Amino acid sequence: MPVRHNHWIGGKADEPTSGAYLPTLDPVTRQPGDEVAAGSSADVDRAVAAASAAQPEWARRSAAERSEVLHQVANAIEAGADELMELERACTGKVTGQLKMEVDMSVAYFRYYAGVLRSQHGRTIDQGGGTHTYTRLEPYGVIAVITPWNFPLNQACRGLAPALAVGNAVVAKPSEFTSTSTLHLARLATEAGLPAGLLNVVTGIGPDVGTPLAGHPAVRRIAFTGSVPTGRYLASIAAERLIPVTLELGGKSPIVVFADSPLDRAVAAAVSAVAMNAGQTCTATTRLLVEASVHDEFVARVVDVVERLEPGVDFGPMITESQFRKVLEHFATASDEGAVPATGGSAYDDGPAAQGLYIRPTVYAGVRPDLRIAREEVFGPVLVTMPFTDEADALAMANDTDYGLLASVWSGDVARGLRLAEQIDAGQVTVNGGALTIETPLGGYKQSGYGREKGLEALHEYAQTKSISLSLS
Ligand code: NAD
Repeated sequence: MPVRHNHWIGGKADEPTSGAYLPTLDPVTRQPGDEVAAGSSADVDRAVAAASAAQPEWARRSAAERSEVLHQVANAIEAGADELMELERACTGKVTGQLKMEVDMSVAYFRYYAGVLRSQHGRTIDQGGGTHTYTRLEPYGVIAVITPWNFPLNQACRGLAPALAVGNAVVAKPSEFTSTSTLHLARLATEAGLPAGLLNVVTGIGPDVGTPLAGHPAVRRIAFTGSVPTGRYLASIAAERLIPVTLELGGKSPIVVFADSPLDRAVAAAVSAVAMNAGQTCTATTRLLVEASVHDEFVARVVDVVERLEPGVDFGPMITESQFRKVLEHFATASDEGAVPATGGSAYDDGPAAQGLYIRPTVYAGVRPDLRIAREEVFGPVLVTMPFTDEADALAMANDTDYGLLASVWSGDVARGLRLAEQIDAGQVTVNGGALTIETPLGGYKQSGYGREKGLEALHEYAQTKSISLSLS
C-alpha cells in the first residue's frame, strides 16, 4: 500500500477536503510511489487562514528571536537529512551527490537568512533639524510560494527562508509530482519550534491549488518558480490583484569558450550542464559557444566525457513522464530539421536504465542557431554547440536568446571575460567558473522572469519598506 501524505496546515497534518489523493511515480522504475493529498480551494482557505492567524505574532518578534527559530529549523533539516533525501529520491530518482547537495543547500538557506536577518535594518533619513524620519522593513503578511519538480526541497527553502525571516507566514504549493520533501520539511520545522501556521503546505495540481492560492485575497505576494506559461498566467492574476510576484522561469543559457581558456576546466563546465540533475536545471548552460579555431577539438573532448557518464551513477532520470516525452519530441523535431546528434539523441533502450525515464546525454554539434533545439529550453541532458569567430560574434550569439538567466564565460584574457560578463543580458554571469552561492542574487533578464531570489536581495523582495516621519516641533 502506498503511503498517503496529507497537507500540513496550522502545524499539523490535514486531510484534503476532497478526500482524494494523487499518485506519484518513481522515475527510476516507473513504479507508483506514495500518494499526496489532492488539494482544492477549501484546503487553500484553511491554510491561508492559519497563516493569517499566526503571522502577526511572528512579525512582532525581534529579529534575534526569529533568527533563533530559523537556526533551529536549519538544525532540524540537517538532522533529518536522510529521510528528506529518501523522500526526494523516491519521486525524482536523483543520484546521491545531487540529493546531498540539495539538502545541504536547504540547510544553508535557513542558516544564511537566520544570520543576515539580524543585520538588515531600516535607515534614518536626515532631513535637517526638526524631523526624525526612518524606514522599516515590514513583512507583507501571507506569501504564496509555488515551486516546480526539479529541485523541490531546495527551491522551497530558497523562498521560505527569506520570507519567514522578515516576518511573513507562508503557504507553499509544491509540484504535485514532488511534494513529499516539502511536506516533511514543514513537519520538521514545526517540531523544531516554528510556530504553527507559519509554514503551511497544500499539495495538488496547479489549477486546483496554485490558482486559488494566487487569487486568495489574504495572499499579499507570490514567489513562483517554474515554466514561462505558468509564470505569465500567475503574473496576470497578480496584476489583476495589484500584488507583487517574483518569477524564476526558464533559460537557454550560453557557455562561451575562447581558444585561450583553461580548456580542461571549460570541458568539465560544459559537461556539468548535462550531468547536473540530467539537465533539468533552470540555469543549465546548454548552449555551448566555442571559438571556431578550437570548436571541433573542444566538442570532441566534451563528447568523449559525456559518453562516459553513467545513468544512475552520474546523473538521474527525467523526473516526470511528460518531461521524458518532451525531450524525445525535441529529438524528433531536431531530426526533422536535419540535425544529427554527435552522441545520444534517444532514451536508453537496454540495461537497467531502460526501465526508468533516462535519456542519453546528448550533444548536437555545430547546429544552426535558428533550430528549435538551439532556441528552446529542452530541460534535459542536451547540449547544442555553435562556433563563433571573435568577441563581438560571441557576444551577439550569447545574447541571441529570449532568455537571460545565466551565462558562463571562459577566457585566458580576464578583461575580455569581464567585458563580456558586463554586456551579456543575464542575471548571473560566471567568468572562468566563478562561484554562485546562496549569497549571490539569482534572477532573470528578458523571458527568464523578474525579481531576485537568494542573497540580501531576497530579504528585500519579501519585505516592504515603510517610511515614518515624526515632527519634533
Ligand atoms: P510548471 O510551471 O508547470 O509548474 C510549476 C508549479 O506551478 C507547480 O507547482 C505547478 O503545479 C504550478 N502550476 C502549474 N499550473 C498552474 C496554474 N495554472 N496555476 C497555478 N499554479 C500552477 O513548471 P514545471 O514543469 O514544474 O517546472 C519546469 C519549468 O520550471 C522549466 O521550464 C524550468 O526552466 C522552470 N524552472 C525555473 C527555475 C528558476 O529558478 N528560474 C527553477 C526550476 C525550474
